[in-house]
Amino acid sequence: MATGFFNTPYPENEPVKSYAPGSPERAEVQAMYKELYAQKIEVPLYIGEEEVFTDNKADMNPPHDIKHVLGQYNKADKKHVEDAIEAALEARKKWANMSWEFRAGIFLKMADLLAGPYRARMNAATMLGQSKTVHQAEIDAACELIDFFKFNVLYMTEIYKEQPLYHAPNEWNRVEYRPLEGFVYAVTPFNFTSIAGNLPTSAALMGNVVIWKPSRTQMYSAKVLMDLFLEAGLPKGVINMVTGDSAMISDTVFEHPDFAGVHFTGSTGVFNGMYKKVGENIAKYKTYPRIVGETGGKDFIAMHPSADAKAVAVAISRGAFEFQGQKCSAASRAYIPASKWEDVKKFVVEDMASFKQGDPDDMHNFVSAVIDRSAFTKLSGVIDKAREDKDLEIVAGGEYDDSKGYFIQPTLIKANDPKNWTMETEFFGPIMTLYVYDDEKWQETLELVNSTSPYALTGAIFSTDRYAAEQATHYLQNCAGNFYINDKPTGAVVGQQPFGGARGSGTNDKAGSKLNLMRWVSPRLIKENFVSPKDYRYPFME
Ligand code: NAD
Repeated sequence: MATGFFNTPYPENEPVKSYAPGSPERAEVQAMYKELYAQKIEVPLYIGEEEVFTDNKADMNPPHDIKHVLGQYNKADKKHVEDAIEAALEARKKWANMSWEFRAGIFLKMADLLAGPYRARMNAATMLGQSKTVHQAEIDAACELIDFFKFNVLYMTEIYKEQPLYHAPNEWNRVEYRPLEGFVYAVTPFNFTSIAGNLPTSAALMGNVVIWKPSRTQMYSAKVLMDLFLEAGLPKGVINMVTGDSAMISDTVFEHPDFAGVHFTGSTGVFNGMYKKVGENIAKYKTYPRIVGETGGKDFIAMHPSADAKAVAVAISRGAFEFQGQKCSAASRAYIPASKWEDVKKFVVEDMASFKQGDPDDMHNFVSAVIDRSAFTKLSGVIDKAREDKDLEIVAGGEYDDSKGYFIQPTLIKANDPKNWTMETEFFGPIMTLYVYDDEKWQETLELVNSTSPYALTGAIFSTDRYAAEQATHYLQNCAGNFYINDKPTGAVVGQQPFGGARGSGTNDKAGSKLNLMRWVSPRLIKENFVSPKDYRYPFME
């Protein structure tokens, strides 16, 4: 096996299994799905040594099968959050001093457990609780999280290896990459089990202790994550999981003097609120906290007249609608030249007519349900409003039905006005709006891409003209943290496309890279002088 720095295993990306008919992984995940569906589980709070059950509980239901109950999760009150912080600070006394090799081994073990005995369970839990197809679960809950665990260990050693190059005679300089002084607050979204796993563990890997608050709609797979962490040997108290009233939990955390950083992924509005709270409390903290947030997007596909219509159509079909468009990277606005519109339309409409939608355990389905009632209400409302907007035409889709689950049909809208509200607002669902531009107006179209919506997460341009591709790449420099040429803007892979955006899309600390781990250390320079001076006078004074 190849090795990285300090002889750590050099990671390779986890191969994505096919789940094709007849494959052993398909049989295994289907059996696991059935088994989990038939049982009820209870998700406790994890506070230090304890699994805590409270008298405040909520049901967990599959979004595609809303009358079925998967079990319940327990909600914390303020005292539980305070207890979790105390437990984390207690655990810190040992964890922050554990040698990095002993820490790293735990996360490498998590990767191997997840690649093997936990794979089917993690995938089935993600299919059931978050309505992902098996392919979407596999690339997220299994492969991406395995990659996060393994690559983060490599990146950690790269950080530790960075040391001062020069030493004056009789001196030795070194940098100690200390964990932050205090605890880290990890707040995770519903849409990626891998993000839920990565945000607390990346900080913990660097020696930090963590209060983790998962999303209420990801609690089912959150329990499998906690089982994985503990089975891999993570000492209790290093990652403490609490859930419940988000605002109360955040307020309690942000008032604590030992709060040392927040690792957030979710919507821009929630992150803005956190930033403000941290600012209001700034004088209370022992140290300036790290604020890391990956937030919303209104991700674009811009097609040059030279581009291939079929390639653009497939990028829309996959990039806008997989996992019901609930990816921060999902394409949700497109710019198509008039000369190519009829072709692109024909291919996308054909694709969309062939999409099968339903439960993820029926492996023919390409899309499933959106996450919860509030997403369903918002997205069906967008479709209703779009129907009444004279500037908009619904090209395909436009149906919704919540009789069995929260099903929103993938919907393609054409806007006459490039600044229409549907071109600017993040809906976080299977709704894409496109604008057809005059072929002569490529430059003006790039300016529209740049100035429409406050976000800058992902974006793609399609062009076979190299001059146009280069021009767009320069011109759109600040429009996306992840910029794609002739490819859909989703599907970033750890170690290949470090992920994150700027403007309203976040602090761009690039999950799955060394840059992110850097935020969870506070370097201390240690200079040692082997021959201390014995006379205060300098030669010039003689
Ligand atoms: P969300 O903002 O609703 O929730 C994210 C987390 O914040 C959850 O744990 C939630 O409980 C918590 N939260 C909600 N209100 C809070 C409050 N007042 N105080 C403290 N915490 C609060 O987001 P979501 O619906 O789970 O995820 C979708 C959003 O996340 C989209 O905007 C999407 O673009 C974004 N996202 C971004 C990335 C990225 O890498 N940039 C990745 C995934 C998702």
